Amino acid sequence: KENVLAQFFIGSIDQGTTSTRFIIFDGTGQPVASHQHEFKQHYPQSGWHEHDPKELIASVEVCVKKAVATFQAMGHDIEDIKAVGLTNQRETTCVWNVETGEPLYNTIAWPDTRTKGLVRDLKQKEKDMGLDLTYLTGLPLSTYPSSVKLVWLLQHVPAVKEAYEAGKLAFGTVDAWLLYNLNGKNRDYFVTDSTNASRTMFTNLHTVKYDDKLLDFFGLDKTKLHLPRIVPSSDADAYGKIVSGPLTGMKIAGCLGDQSAALVGQQGFTPGSAKNTYGTGCFLLYNVGEEPVISSHGLLATIAYDFGRHRKPVYALEGSIAVAGSGVKFMMNNMGFITHSHKISELAATVEDNGGCVFVTAFSGLFAPYWIDDAKGTIFGITQHTQRGHIARATLEAVCFQTKAILDAMEKDSGHKLHQLAVDGGMSNSNLCMQTQANIIGIPVDRPAMRETTALGAAIAAGFAVDIWKEFDELKAINQKDRTIFTPDIGPEESAKMFRKWSRAVEMCRGWLD
Ligand code: ADP
Repeated sequence: KENVLAQFFIGSIDQGTTSTRFIIFDGTGQPVASHQHEFKQHYPQSGWHEHDPKELIASVEVCVKKAVATFQAMGHDIEDIKAVGLTNQRETTCVWNVETGEPLYNTIAWPDTRTKGLVRDLKQKEKDMGLDLTYLTGLPLSTYPSSVKLVWLLQHVPAVKEAYEAGKLAFGTVDAWLLYNLNGKNRDYFVTDSTNASRTMFTNLHTVKYDDKLLDFFGLDKTKLHLPRIVPSSDADAYGKIVSGPLTGMKIAGCLGDQSAALVGQQGFTPGSAKNTYGTGCFLLYNVGEEPVISSHGLLATIAYDFGRHRKPVYALEGSIAVAGSGVKFMMNNMGFITHSHKISELAATVEDNGGCVFVTAFSGLFAPYWIDDAKGTIFGITQHTQRGHIARATLEAVCFQTKAILDAMEKDSGHKLHQLAVDGGMSNSNLCMQTQANIIGIPVDRPAMRETTALGAAIAAGFAVDIWKEFDELKAINQKDRTIFTPDIGPEESAKMFRKWSRAVEMCRGWLD
C-alpha cells in the first residue's frame, strides 16, 4: 500500500501570517517538493497590521510555480498531483468590489488592534441588547474576529462604504479571497469553509450558517453585503479549479483555517486530543467532538474541521495567544538582539534562567484566557544584573506561560487533564522553548520530525475529498517516526513559583494609558 500511495501527490497552499508555502506531499504524507515566500508586513500605525491582498495572491503564485518546477525536475508528473488543498491565516479581513474583484483596502490582519474602541462600544451594545454572542458564535467580542474589522472598514474607509451602499461589497477571510482569485474571479467559487466561517462572528456555531441576529447586531444589511457561501472543509466540487499557472485545471478539494489544518495534520481526530502550534501567534486546539463546548474560562469555541459527506462538523476549544514567533521577530527586527529567529535559543542559553525577568508580550493586548484589550507589552523585574539573554528567555517563556494558563482553563472547561501536548509551528523548532514548555506545564511535549503539519492538514482535507484516503485510520502511520519528546526536568513547586510570577505580571500590565 505504501508503494502505491507514494505515487499519488497532493499540493498544499499554506498562506500564513508572515509567509506563504506550497508543499507537494505524497500519499504517505511525506513532503517531496516545496517553496516558501515571505511577504511584507505593513504596520502603518501602532497596533495596526495589514497585508497587501494582491501580494498574498502573488506569493501563492510564486510558491506554486517554484515548487512545481522542483517537483518536475525530480522526474515527477503534474498529472500525478490529484488535488490541491488550501490553509490560511484566519480572521484576516479582505474587502473587494464584487464586480471587478479589485481590493478596496489592505487586508486587516488578525492581530490588528485598531478596533479597540469599537469593541468597547459593541460590548456595551451586547449587554444592552441582552445578547450572548459568545454562546452564538463561540467567540467573545474582542479585536480578534473579522466582524469588528469589517465594521471598522465601513466606518472609516469611504471606498468600502460606497461599495456597500451600491451593493457591491464582497467580504471574505483570506481563504475566500484566494479561492475566488485562484478560480479566475469566478463568483460560483466565492466560498469559505466552515472553520474559517466560524472565525468571522457572522456564523452561528451551532447551525454553521450565517445568522441574521449576528449581522443585525453588527449593523450589516445582508442585501448589500456579499458573503462567501459556507461549504465543508473537504469537498471535491465546492472549491473549483485553478485557472492559471502550472497547475491550470487542477481541482481544489480542501480548505481549513490554519489552526484547524494543524489539528488535522497532527491527526487530532478523537475527542480529547490537542495540539499547540507556535507560529506568529500560538494556538492550542482541543477536540471536543460533535457538540460545541462553550467555555466559561476564556477559551474560544470553534469548528475544528468539517469533512462533509456523512460526517458531522467537529468542534474544538481553542486557546489563542496573539504573540509567539512575532515576539522572536520583535527581538530581531526591533531590538536587534539576534540576526535570525533560530538564534533566540542560543541567546537564551547564554544565561541559566530568566534572572527574575518576566516579559508579558501583550503587543496586541492579551488574548486567551485573559482577553485584556488594553494590556501593553511590559517587562518586569529588570535590574543591573539583566542581560539580553534574560530577556530572550523571558520572550520564549511568555508563550509557555500562556499555554499553561490555557491548559488550566481547558481542564476546567472539559473536566479532562491533558497527558501529553503535540506541538508544531516555526517556534517549536527551538529545543529550549519546548523544554521550557514541558517544565512549565509539567507534562511531556511531543514534536514531530516533519513540522509542516498545517500544510499536511490541508492536504489531508483535499485527499479525503478525492478518495486518496477514506478513513482517518488510514493516516495512522503518517508523521509518526522520529518524534522528539521533551519531558519536564524541574519539579512542580519550581514551575508553580514561576507561573505565580507570570500571573502577577499579567495583573500588573492592565490598563496602560494610550
Ligand atoms: P506563520 O505560519 O504564522 O507565519 P510559522 O509556523 O512559519 O508561522 O513560524 C514562523 C515564526 O516562528 C516566526 O515568527 C519565527 O520568528 C519563529 N521561528 C522560526 N524558527 C524559530 C526558531 N528556531 N526559534 C524560535 N522561533 C522561531
